[in-house]
Amino acid sequence: MSKELIRLSGVSVAFDGEIVLDDMNIHFNDKEFLTLLGPSGCGKTTTLRIIGGFLVPTAGDVFFDNVRINNVPPHKRQVNTVFQKYALFPHLNVFENIAFGLHLVRPKLSKKEIHDRVMEMLEIVSLKGFENRSVSLLSGGQQQRVAIARALVNRPRVLLLDEPLGALDLRLRKDMQNELKRIQQAMEITFIYVTHDQEEALAMSDTVVVMNEGKIQQIGTPEDIYNEPENAFVADFIGESNIVDGFMCADKVVEIFGRKFECVDGGFAPNEPVDVVIRPEDVDIVPEKDGMLTGTVTNITFKGVHYDIIVDFKGFKWLIQSTDPSPVGAKIGIKIDPDGFHIMKKSRYSGMFGDYSSYSAEYDEIGDLEYEPSENEAELEEEMRYDF
Ligand code: ATP
Repeated sequence: MSKELIRLSGVSVAFDGEIVLDDMNIHFNDKEFLTLLGPSGCGKTTTLRIIGGFLVPTAGDVFFDNVRINNVPPHKRQVNTVFQKYALFPHLNVFENIAFGLHLVRPKLSKKEIHDRVMEMLEIVSLKGFENRSVSLLSGGQQQRVAIARALVNRPRVLLLDEPLGALDLRLRKDMQNELKRIQQAMEITFIYVTHDQEEALAMSDTVVVMNEGKIQQIGTPEDIYNEPENAFVADFIGESNIVDGFMCADKVVEIFGRKFECVDGGFAPNEPVDVVIRPEDVDIVPEKDGMLTGTVTNITFKGVHYDIIVDFKGFKWLIQSTDPSPVGAKIGIKIDPDGFHIMKKSRYSGMFGDYSSYSAEYDEIGDLEYEPSENEAELEEEMRYDF
C-alpha cells in the first residue's frame, strides 16, 4: 500500500481577508503522480507554494513524514519546484545549469560526485551528449528537460511542477507528458503537478484532485473522476457532459424529462432530486421510431474521429458524439444503456452546467444557414417518447 508523505490538514489561505484556499484536507502519497486540476484562480499554485514552503498557511498545518513543517523554509524541505518559465542561466551551459541545483547540497560534493550526478540526470531526461551545449541554443522542450534535471539533481523526495508544459506547442506537450511520467517512475519520487488541462491530468496522473474556488471538489483516479464525477462542476470540467435534472424513483430507476429509465446507481432517498450526467459518447443515435427519446438535430461538426451532433430535446440541447453523421433538421431517436446514466447528488453547481445551447448557437451562427429551429414547442412535446 502507498505510504503517506505529505498532509495538508485544515489548510486555509487568505490574502487581504479574501479566502483563496478554504479548509483543504488532503494527503499526498510517496512515489505517486498527483495532479491539481482546476480553472484559473482556483488555488492550485497557492497549494504548491504551501507545500514548497514559499507561503505559510493562514490556518491549518502541513506535515511531511508526519512532522509539522509549517515554518520550515523552502531550502530545508525535501521538495523542489519546476516552473512554466524555465529560468535557466543563459550564460551557463547545460552541465553547469544542472550542476547549479547541487550548490545547496551539504556536505559539499566532490567534483567527481557532481559530474556523476549531472551525467545521471542527463541520462534520465534523455539529454546525454548535450552537456556542453549553450542552453540558449536548445529547443523549448530541451530547455524544459534541463530545468527538470536541475530540480531533480539534488534528489528531492517531491517535485512540484507548476504548468511546466504551458509554453510548449501541442505536439511537444504530448511528448513531454509521456516523458514526465517516465521520469517520475524512473526517479521513484512524488510528482505534484498543476494544470488546468483536463486531458493532460487524465493522461499522466495516478491521482487527480479537482479544485474550484479554493475548495477540493473531488479526489480520485482519472477513471473515477471521469466515470463517477461527484458534482456538476466536476462532470462539466472533466470531458463533455449533458447534465439534466432528475429524480431517483427507486434504486436503479431514474426519472428525467418526466420519464423513467433504468440505471445502475442506488442509495438515494425515494424521489430524491438528482443531477443526471450522460456523456456524449454513451448516447446511440437510432431511427426515430426506436428511440427512448426523440429530438431534432440542430448542428453537426466534423471533429476527425467523430461528429459532434447537437440535438434539441424539448428545448434542452445535448451533445452527442457519433462516428455517423446526422443531418441538421433530422428527427432522431436515442438509446442509452443503463450504465450510460451517472447519478449525482444535487450541489451548489446544479443547473449551472451541462446544456449545450450556447455551443449550438455558436455553430448555428457560423455554420448552418438552412437550419430553422421549430417554433412549435407542442410539436416537440409530442416527439418525446418513452420505451422503458
Ligand atoms: P492559475 O491557473 O491562473 O495560475 P491558480 O489556480 O494557480 O490559477 P492561484 O495562483 O493559487 O490560482 O490563485 C488563487 C487566488 O489567489 C487568485 O484569485 C489569485 O488572484 C489570488 N492570489 C494569489 N496570490 C496572491 C497574493 N500574493 N496576493 C493576493 N492574492 C493572491
